[in-house]
Amino acid sequence: MKHLFLPMEELALFELKRDRYFDKIPYEDIAAIIEDGISIGKNWAKTIGEMYPKKSFSHIAKAYGLKILEEDRELIIGDVIFYSEFYSGKKEIVIYIKSVEAWASELGKTYEECKELFIAHEFFHYLECEEIGLLSNRYKVTNFKLAGFKFQCGIKALSEIGAHSFVKHSFSMEE
Ligand SMILES: [Zn+2]
Repeated sequence: MKHLFLPMEELALFELKRDRYFDKIPYEDIAAIIEDGISIGKNWAKTIGEMYPKKSFSHIAKAYGLKILEEDRELIIGDVIFYSEFYSGKKEIVIYIKSVEAWASELGKTYEECKELFIAHEFFHYLECEEIGLLSNRYKVTNFKLAGFKFQCGIKALSEIGAHSFVKHSFSMEE
């Protein structure tokens, strides 16, 4: 998750490249879809920042009726470390304390500071579900064609690009 500190455009390309359908995206579309994801995250950071000036994301998420659960463990599946998750059905954000603590100490920051970044990230996914519409559905690629039908898939990385942009702009990590 240290990639969060890459410049926004590099971070976006990093996320896009690890999307399972990256190879299906025509090269000439890449710049525009990255820009779309970044600008949505940026605009929502501004909107929420104006609605809740100087409020923590713990406060903001709760104001939207979200529950924040802090679980005292880390979650690693395969080689992926999970720091936090958002469960739309339950309106719940889960923070994995041990994962976030390890990340925080590597960065020389406190758990509380870093927790806010992850709550903000998951809060963006909540906004996608409730207000914005899933960013992953804003751009579709043809996965395969069969008997004259095109089977299309969204690009999940776009949700992550939006969330990263939201976090970076909310915490003034980006111009
Ligand atoms: Zn995410």
